[in-house]
Amino acid sequence: MEVQFNFTGKRFVVTGASSGIGRQIAQELANAGADVLTIARRAGELEKLLNEYPERITVAPVDVTDMEAMEKSITAFVVDKGKIDGSVHAAGLLKFTPLRAFNFNEAKRMMDVNLWASIFLIQLVTKKKYAANSTAHVQFSSVSSQKGQIGLSAYSATKAAIEVAVRSLAKEVANRGHRINTISPGWVETNMTKDTLVNEDVSGDHLLGLGSVEDVAGLVLFLLSDRAKWITGTNYVVDGGYLA
Ligand code: NDP
Repeated sequence: MEVQFNFTGKRFVVTGASSGIGRQIAQELANAGADVLTIARRAGELEKLLNEYPERITVAPVDVTDMEAMEKSITAFVVDKGKIDGSVHAAGLLKFTPLRAFNFNEAKRMMDVNLWASIFLIQLVTKKKYAANSTAHVQFSSVSSQKGQIGLSAYSATKAAIEVAVRSLAKEVANRGHRINTISPGWVETNMTKDTLVNEDVSGDHLLGLGSVEDVAGLVLFLLSDRAKWITGTNYVVDGGYLA
């Protein structure tokens, strides 16, 4: 059964839109009629999205940890298109940090991109001057926040951190009608995972098989939509049964 969302007249910010899950979300939002500010560092990849949807997509080749550049691009988008109805922070970084070769700089960089940039984005897009009434936001956790994997101590810590942070953030913004949730995907083939080995245990544990970017985007669009208007401050697992 096909499910279609209608986001005509709505405006969203999607980070990590140059590839993988973020790109799919930006495309699906544009297909559903939304105006989308797409943010990532690779300008060439964002340009491709712009060429696909010249009417709907705005591009900002910005590092999500650059707070000044982030605010500038959001200000310009709001002036051009109007106030924001929601955001998705799909920008993310995964570096393996096995204990014997733990790299603190890589761990800190992951925290910057996966956690602090998420919180800064929420701070920006829920400000009165940028936010419409009753906005909705989705942040990315991962099944690795709930199940250990060798080499993922730092990455999973960043994901558990955003999952927990969102509960408090949801309480801070609820009185202004804003909603924030996290989602925890299982293994999805993207740039992030293409070089990782999926052994039979991991693929077998995904009872419905490994995931696609479409499998994850569907849940995100639902959480951004009014059908999710009573859902905030929680985490949704979308993992083909991996955690079962
Ligand atoms: P990709 O590697 O395909 O995409 C990551 C995106 O993040 C890219 O668009 C990249 O763009 C952007 N990005 C990374 N660092 C920065 C930065 N400093 N500033 C701006 N943009 C940045 O990964 P996925 O699509 O797989 O991942 C999306 C989210 O889903 C991540 O949070 C990831 O942790 C999470 N996730 C993914 C899973 C999977 O199996 N794929 C499983 C569980 C969670 P650019 O390089 O152009 O800046």
